Amino acid sequence: MKVTFWGARGSVPVSGNEFCKAGGNTSCVELVHEGERLILDGGTGLTALGRALGAPTKATILFSHFHWDHIQGVPFFGAAYHPGSELTFAAVPSEGGTLREALAAQMTPPSFPVGIELLAGIKRWDDLGYEQPYEAGPFRITPIEQPHPNGVASFRIEAGGQAVVYATDVEHGGKVSPRLIQAAEGADLLIHDAQYHWAEYTGQSGPPKQGWGHSTWLEAVQAAQQADVARLALFHHDPTRDDEGVDAMERLAQERFEGAFAAREGLALAL
Ligand SMILES: [Zn+2]
Ligand SMILES: [Zn+2]
Repeated sequence: MKVTFWGARGSVPVSGNEFCKAGGNTSCVELVHEGERLILDGGTGLTALGRALGAPTKATILFSHFHWDHIQGVPFFGAAYHPGSELTFAAVPSEGGTLREALAAQMTPPSFPVGIELLAGIKRWDDLGYEQPYEAGPFRITPIEQPHPNGVASFRIEAGGQAVVYATDVEHGGKVSPRLIQAAEGADLLIHDAQYHWAEYTGQSGPPKQGWGHSTWLEAVQAAQQADVARLALFHHDPTRDDEGVDAMERLAQERFEGAFAAREGLALAL
């Protein structure tokens, strides 16, 4: 399986020299196996992936949840407008509605000039269920419910004997979710929210972030250790975290877990 990070930033896109190394686009990760493409989240990283893919194209896009930073790339994903594209969009419905309703709402006056009906390349809308396996080409996917405001799905994705676990926007609150550890057991790669240092989360530095829906890098490391995964990608970098800050967080994580690294835009891994 090949894994490419197109957006590793959390909450809001950023730009500037101080963010060039980690990148400024929000959540979007591409998995390719046997020529089939699975995309995780449609943050602004999806616009860059769309330019690379061209149109028409074929892919399944899984959405972890419908917060802005995970859906804002969709109206700027060129292939979605091409009637020849074969796109499947899939997510667990949220308390506020289905994936289609959430995406339609952001393409509505006065926020956006054209409506979702122009996205002729989307051929299927699949509603997923927690703990209900879903198949997309060679990928077998299990959505897992995790703690986050308005809900979030983490995904265990298996293909070709390998496993990737995508756990963005998860708030453990100091104790790593047992269900996540179980789901990530033995994975080749765990992509995990690492938005904060503990001092930031608890309000010793800046406003307290409890209830904002995110993890610390240490919780990401603990999840990786307890699930005995091979590699850990620190993901969903805080928009205030510059490259120096991301590098420093990466070093702290690597002191405790050798397989840890910071997800950076453009990074591609062959598992
Ligand atoms: Zn997010
Ligand atoms: Zn979120």
